[in-house]
Amino acid sequence: MNQREAPVVIIGGGIVGSSIAWFLAQRGVKALLLEKSTPGFEASSRAAGGVRAQCRDTTDERKLAMASIEVWKTLAEATGTDVEYTQGGTLRLAATDDRLAELTAQSHEELADGLEVEMWDEAELYRRKPFLAPGFIGAKYCATDGVANPRLVTPAIAAAAARLGAEVWEETEVIGIDRADGRITGVRARNAQGEWSIAAPKVVHAAGPWTPQLSTDLGFEIPIVPSRTIIGRTEPLPRLFTEFISSHDAGVYARPDARGCIHIGAVGRSIGDFEEVTEADVRTYLEKRSNLIPALGEAEIEEVWWGTLAMTPDRTPILGVVEGLDGYYLASGFSGHGFALGPGVGKVMSELILDGEPSVSLDGFSLARFGEDVQFGKGRIQGTG
Ligand SMILES: Cc1cc2nc3c(=O)[nH]c(=O)nc-3n(C[C@H](O)[C@H](O)[C@H](O)COP(=O)(O)OP(=O)(O)OC[C@H]3O[C@@H](n4cnc5c(N)ncnc54)[C@H](O)[C@@H]3O)c2cc1C
Repeated sequence: MNQREAPVVIIGGGIVGSSIAWFLAQRGVKALLLEKSTPGFEASSRAAGGVRAQCRDTTDERKLAMASIEVWKTLAEATGTDVEYTQGGTLRLAATDDRLAELTAQSHEELADGLEVEMWDEAELYRRKPFLAPGFIGAKYCATDGVANPRLVTPAIAAAAARLGAEVWEETEVIGIDRADGRITGVRARNAQGEWSIAAPKVVHAAGPWTPQLSTDLGFEIPIVPSRTIIGRTEPLPRLFTEFISSHDAGVYARPDARGCIHIGAVGRSIGDFEEVTEADVRTYLEKRSNLIPALGEAEIEEVWWGTLAMTPDRTPILGVVEGLDGYYLASGFSGHGFALGPGVGKVMSELILDGEPSVSLDGFSLARFGEDVQFGKGRIQGTG
């Protein structure tokens, strides 16, 4: 077996793991990032690219998203790659009184947290966006939200980390996490060179929906389940809007990219676990697109793809240390909105790892919030290894 050492091992080179490696490298800590495919190959490059702070489930997540947007603003310059980040705004539509009341209540919390949002009534909405399908009764708008190109972002961050001394091993699958006496001792991995035993005092588990597979060996359950979701892209169209527009009521979202293509995805609809998507799933998805913008029903769809989300029971990520296992850090379970959070999580997790104290509170993201039954579902941390 090949032997190695690293100050920090990161499992998973999605936007989250890559961003953590990048921020650690900026502080002189050369982590070893292990990715079973290539950086960003999974959800991180398949996302719709929405970078929003509005409509977050909790205040803690809102603050994390706002901190992340500060990182996004300088990401292109800092990585040396134009990741097509623009702040074109987000528009969240309501088609029912309940939805409108929910958005209105949320707007008060957002304004109190310093996030500039506006409520638009029906007349205002259709005055500004006459191309929308009928039936919406209002919307919440946030001008500082935006989009970036997911196919560019994670490779750019991983490359920036590597330039600063992080080691990025592609096509390397972690097959086990080792511990002894209540603390992490390293990981085992395999790649084309064979099997590896990598000693490390700190391991960051950022493997998205695959995270529970390895943590079971550690003796605790992580409540993350995979969920596949479909997205597609039209041919380039005359520019109609700049915002990321979404409606939970219509079950669909749309946003323009730098070429003028509209990316259209399904909101709140999961098509199961790691199984392949069927033609029927794609047909159902395509039928929905005119629910939001009738003109999109006519547009040719150039490409359809899908990715796997890592869902937690409360749709909020799991971030931070795990009580009872020193040196083990979780950064996973982003439940369909981790692209926006990724760069900010990289910064905050690097602070937690290096200083013990992050600049944004991670209190609301602990694994412990799910209670002992879930956290230690197999009877607390087991074994002696
Ligand atoms: C269609 C779609 C649209 C989306 N739209 C948005 C959006 O608009 N805005 C937004 O904020 N979010 C969006 N998301 C969600 C977002 O993509 C994810 O929340 C985010 O990418 C999660 O990043 P991650 O790094 O945690 O996970 P991932 O990108 O899943 O990365 C995990 C990585 O770990 C690797 N890995 C797993 N197991 C191992 C192992 N044993 N050894 C080595 N490597 C391993 C995987 O190969 C993978 O690369 C969307 C997702 C999809 C699928």
